[in-house]
This record gives sequence, C-alpha cells and structure tokens, in this order.
Amino acid sequence: MEQIGTFATSGTTLQDLQLFRDADSAQLAPLLAACAVLRLADGERIEDTVRARLLIVLRGVLAVSTDDGATSKILPGESVGEQSVLDDTTNLAAMHAVGDTELLVIEGELVWKLIDQSNTLARNLLRLLSFRIRAASALLRRRHKLGEFYRQLSMNDGLTGLYNRAWLNDMLPKMVASAHRAGAPLSLIMIDLDHFKRFNDTHGHLAGDDALRAAATVIGAALRPADHAVRYGGEEMMVLLPDTPQALALLVAERLCARMRGATIFADMRTPLPHISASIGVAVLADGMDDTALIAAADAALYRAKEGGRDRVSL
Ligand code: GH3
Ligand code: MG
Ligand code: MG
Repeated sequence: MEQIGTFATSGTTLQDLQLFRDADSAQLAPLLAACAVLRLADGERIEDTVRARLLIVLRGVLAVSTDDGATSKILPGESVGEQSVLDDTTNLAAMHAVGDTELLVIEGELVWKLIDQSNTLARNLLRLLSFRIRAASALLRRRHKLGEFYRQLSMNDGLTGLYNRAWLNDMLPKMVASAHRAGAPLSLIMIDLDHFKRFNDTHGHLAGDDALRAAATVIGAALRPADHAVRYGGEEMMVLLPDTPQALALLVAERLCARMRGATIFADMRTPLPHISASIGVAVLADGMDDTALIAAADAALYRAKEGGRDRVSL
C-alpha cells in the first residue's frame, strides 16, 4: 500500500462520489485537496485498526468482510467506514483489494468539518446510513428466522410436527410446578393407536406413517390454543391441558376418540386406507404429584382402556 498522490492530483470529480452527490464542489473540493490517495495491489489487505476514517474507492474494488463471514464489495464512488467515523471507533472489518485499487482516505475530523459545511453531504450520509441499517436488520431478521427454524427442528417431531419428547421433558415439570403454585387443574391425555403393529404389517410402514400423520392432525385440530400435543413415543401421543379439570378433559378425550375413529387415511395413491382407532387414558394432577407420577397415572388409565377392549377412554 503506497500513497500515490492526493485528492487534488487524482483528477476525481466530487460528483462521481456517492457521498458528495449534488454537493457544492467549489466549496468542498479545497477541503479535500490534501487527502491521501492510496494504491493497493490485487489481494492486498488493509489493516485499518488505526483510527476512524472514511475510505472512498476511486478505482478497483474493495472487499469488506465482517466478523460473521459476510462479504460486501465496495465499488468506485462508494465508501466504507462512515459509522466508525460517526461513533469514533476503529473500523474492525477486514478489507482487501480486488484488482488494482485506489482509495481516497478522509480522516475522521475532516469528515465532521465537511458535515458542518454541507447539508447535502450530511443528507447523503444519513441516507447511506439508513440504507445500511435497513440491510443489517434484514440480515438479523433472516438469522432470527433461521434460529427459529432450528429451534423448532429440535423441539418438534419430524414425522407428525407435534412436540417431541425433549420438549416434554423441558416443559412438563414447569407446567406441573405452575399448576401446583396456582392451585389450578392440569390434565394429561395419553393416546395409543390400537393394533398399530398389525396396521403396519398389513399396509406397510409408509402407510403406517401416513396413519400417524393423520392421527396427529386429528389431535391438533381438536385442541384449544393453550393445549399442547406431544409425540411421546412410536404410536403414542399425549395432550397436555392446562387449567382443565377432569370432567372437561374426559370430554376432550371422548371427542378425540370419536374423531380418530372417523379419520380417513390416505396413502400416496389417494386410496383411503382402513380406519384406525385409539385407546385413551386420562389423568389429572393431584396434590403432591410430580410430572413422572402424572404420566404414570395416564399410562395406567391407558392400560385400562386397552384391557377394556380398546377404542375407548378410561380414567
Ligand atoms: P396395541 O393396540 O396394544 O397398542 O397394539 P400395537 O400393535 O399398537 O402395539 P405395539 O406396541 O405392539 O406396536 C406398536 C407399533 O407401532 C409397532 C411399530 O412398528 C409401530 N410404530 C411405532 N412408531 C412408528 C412409526 O414412526 N411409523 C410407523 N409406521 N409405525 C410405527
Ligand atoms: Mg404403544
Ligand atoms: Mg398401540
């Protein structure tokens, strides 16, 4: 990197520089006259850790990489470092030249002087910063969405879309504690598809997957916003109903049982498969019960439903 001249000797017109567009050249050019023009060879890096300054590309391209690995290209007439000048911090972005590149360097203090002199420059700078902020928040939004996506992926079962066991392990103890604290009822419905091994054996595993998805859809559609559906194991699903006493939970369970029986399952060829049914156990949180005891109670109720002949609800 070597200084090859100054703004005055560079033959650059201010109008060609984004930040100075429509500004009064006669007024500002003399202030810039002594600013250094540097030349960088292809690939040359700028260790710009010294201080706040504005760099304007006159020729070539400056590639700026931020610490998150994103790279943007600064083209002739464009600038980098406005923000570091405004808040007087060092510019930490790593930069390198792409092809032979010439840069105009404007020191921080001079930028402030120019802003004092020219409303047009101040306005251009504001517009540029607003554009940068917009781009940065779009990036954040994209990242946030991606984070949400992965969070969901880790909490939801891939086949049914219901919450998975990890979610249950995290949430059920909290729901139990909060129900105890508030003295509010908490009901748990345990659902197990009937003779599902036989269904798989007869129609194949893929059709079995379709049946599981259909069962999950039935459950999802029957829930109120505060209720949660979980895939507990293979063909076992669970519904958590906060603030719900036994009588109401039984009603919900009966409704689920009937809808499960009525659900139509389609395999890929769109030919309906035989109906499925489920056995359902219902339990309500009692004094002194923890999450494990609540699940055990629902499991025991489910066992009674199976024993009683399947396709039914039991307490
Ligand atoms: P029961 O009425 O007593 O519950 O009988 P069952 O056949 O449903 O019970 P069992 O526990 O013997 O069999 C469960 C079956 O569920 C066996 C397994 O192949 C099937 N299954 C579990 N997870 C999946 C899955 O993700 N996809 C498919 N297609 N089948 C599954
Ligand atoms: Mg089972
Ligand atoms: Mg089963």
